[in-house]
Amino acid sequence: MAHTAQPDHFWMPFTANRQFKSAPRLLERAEGMYYTSDDGRQILDGTAGLWCCNAGHGRREITEAVTQQLSKMDFAPTFQMGHSLPFQLAERLSEITPAGLNRVFFTNSGSESVDTALKIALAYQRAIGQGTRTRLIGRELGYHGVGFGGISVGGMTNNRKAFGALLPGVDHLPHTLDIERNRFCKGLPEHGAEKADELERLVTLHGAENIAAVIVEPMSGSSGVILPPKGYLQRLREITRKHGILLIFDEVITGFGRVGEAFASQRWGVTPDLITCAKGLTNGAVPMGAVFVADELYEAFMAGPDSAIEFFHGYTYSGHPVACAAALATLDIYARENLFQKAIELEGYWQSALKNLEDLPHIADIRTVGLVAGVQFEPHAEGVGKRAYGIFRQCFEDGLLVRASGDTIALSPPLIIEKSHIDDLFSRFADAIRKAG
Ligand code: PMP
Repeated sequence: MAHTAQPDHFWMPFTANRQFKSAPRLLERAEGMYYTSDDGRQILDGTAGLWCCNAGHGRREITEAVTQQLSKMDFAPTFQMGHSLPFQLAERLSEITPAGLNRVFFTNSGSESVDTALKIALAYQRAIGQGTRTRLIGRELGYHGVGFGGISVGGMTNNRKAFGALLPGVDHLPHTLDIERNRFCKGLPEHGAEKADELERLVTLHGAENIAAVIVEPMSGSSGVILPPKGYLQRLREITRKHGILLIFDEVITGFGRVGEAFASQRWGVTPDLITCAKGLTNGAVPMGAVFVADELYEAFMAGPDSAIEFFHGYTYSGHPVACAAALATLDIYARENLFQKAIELEGYWQSALKNLEDLPHIADIRTVGLVAGVQFEPHAEGVGKRAYGIFRQCFEDGLLVRASGDTIALSPPLIIEKSHIDDLFSRFADAIRKAG
């Protein structure tokens, strides 16, 4: 069947457009655990779309909720008025967020959530009379979306290097990837909690009174599944608290059950001041993001004069009725099917299946927690990412969707996955690794 895409007009995001033109990969349908490509092949979804479709594809309940909402009210303005759905949704979300994070600000994407969280952090410090706290701290290899705030605190060089000076006053903690000491670990790595102590050095260097917030992904996804060493997040929390610095967890990937529990923060027992999310919030069906904010931060904004707009920020589509309808239906599915427990229930089986990959050619490391895995390959002589990209292409040809980032292939299937799918996924993956050599 002929490809229907005309690659001459659409500027594809995050894609080598010229390479794509010679070998297009197009998806046409999605149902349950599978995509169907435009040439009619079934493709097992090993990545929940792009870490979004945690409840699997084509969920009838979401379709119905979206359709009904569209016919009832398609849009409502967000300036000095509202409608009931974001109130309902925020209340539902506060039932599953970590204790004390009960205020919700809605956005349309992970990138917007990150920029919103950074702005809340800066404005909060001002609101409490700490206006000198303007510095932000991210982490090497961190990914926080593509807004200017997100790429400034982010630490993936390719996402930053073409875009000039970015935000001033940003530092980066060291990343926690340490294959030498933690190779083939299952769950959180034993070694590396001390990397959090670098924050003390930055505090000494700049003075705590100048630092507003630290932002990290509890588990880095986009840079190749980098897990927090045992005790690392706790140390970050202790140091930030000691110095009046806010801690932001970017849970755009880890939110909504990916690592077991609703949020990684709960699985690993560390509560930040703000959490960003998106993706799984609507099961990927309608763009939407959110920032969960600690009560005391919100209260500080409410302490000013009654008539003021407390936080001058928002989007035309914040709390969009159709997105809210999709999110409410998604939360119903997660609760009814107990999907946040799924990553814990299947973790052992998932880990055993991964263990069988260890002896395949060119495997450098395997990192896993919940229903996520990062399989890192030895670098290819022709450059970083060459081998993983070859395996990604082979998988796609053989009916499996995986995600290549650098030398790592990331796996993050929908949480509705069954053991038989896990067997199928790893059998296809192992074959593709062998074929790609
Ligand atoms: N933060 C993290 C941790 C992410 O993984 C992503 C997307 N992969 C984003 C932010 C950006 O989200 P979006 O693409 O929806 O803007």
